[in-house]
Amino acid sequence: MLKKSLPGPRAGIDYPRTLGEFHEFFSDEAACSHYLERLRWREGFVCPACGQSGTPWRSKRLLLVCSACQRQTSVTAGTLLAGTRSPLRFWFLAAWEVTSRKLGASALSVQRTLGLPSYKTAWTWLQKLRRAMVRPNRDQLSNRVEVDECYVGGEEEGVHGRETHRKAIVAIAVELKARGQTARIRLRHVPDLTAESLVGFVTEVVEPGSIVETDGWSGYSPLKEAGYKHRVTVLSAASDPAHVVMPHVHRVASLLKRWLLGTHQGGISNNHLPYYLDEFTFRFNRRTSDSRGLLFYRLLSFAVQIDPVPIKELFQGTGRGPRRRRAKHKM
Ligand SMILES: [Zn+2]
Repeated sequence: MLKKSLPGPRAGIDYPRTLGEFHEFFSDEAACSHYLERLRWREGFVCPACGQSGTPWRSKRLLLVCSACQRQTSVTAGTLLAGTRSPLRFWFLAAWEVTSRKLGASALSVQRTLGLPSYKTAWTWLQKLRRAMVRPNRDQLSNRVEVDECYVGGEEEGVHGRETHRKAIVAIAVELKARGQTARIRLRHVPDLTAESLVGFVTEVVEPGSIVETDGWSGYSPLKEAGYKHRVTVLSAASDPAHVVMPHVHRVASLLKRWLLGTHQGGISNNHLPYYLDEFTFRFNRRTSDSRGLLFYRLLSFAVQIDPVPIKELFQGTGRGPRRRRAKHKM
């Protein structure tokens, strides 16, 4: 479907800038419902049943009633927030908590702030919101991209040699601007360091023809064949131990580790890790946003664009736990 480009969201008009404005924007359920309606149908309501556009009637229970076919539609039906029995205002507050803080929020802090009945509820809400942290049909990285991996989770002590039991491997791609500053990132939990996993990751997140910089690991060898300009940097044995081959990836890796250990106390199973990586990416790629409110706006916009996630799937995570692991180097 061809979409007209719409003007960008305006601070203080399309999203709140402060907690004070948040309370003014979302004083009751009707205000929250209206807000979601505008995000979902930015060019005006279109009836999901008959496809007719035009201003709907509104029922007392905040349902939208199509003026053509009379069918009632809930603003959350068919979206990530479908079927919620909690007030929308609570969801908005949870989204605000997660987006307004520089380091996000843990399930425990969301439970306390919102007074949710259980930790499990707060955890489930955050897992749901993480599904909305990936822009639908997002672009690939391009130009010049640094790629490397790091290990997260598990305990280093007691691990023999270079085995990575319980640790997860995260592949990291960092797009660089002309002057070498970090632009956007992509992260992926990969099962191993094979070419299948690593080149698979690159082909999914980096535009063909881009320059891809990696170390000399054989898993990256097929990059040239896959259509990239592959630049290899080999760390010689004699070099300064403090030298870092992939400085941008290295920085992202240490921020990621600090975030997982700090905000989330490291308590993340490998099955759920991919969604935490999405959250980290969401926040990192918007780190220069003038307003945290814009992140809140993006999160809710994506939430009404994506399908509901069955609760069972939320608890199981990806089910793609690490299979075979091969040691390479640690970062
Ligand atoms: Zn209709």
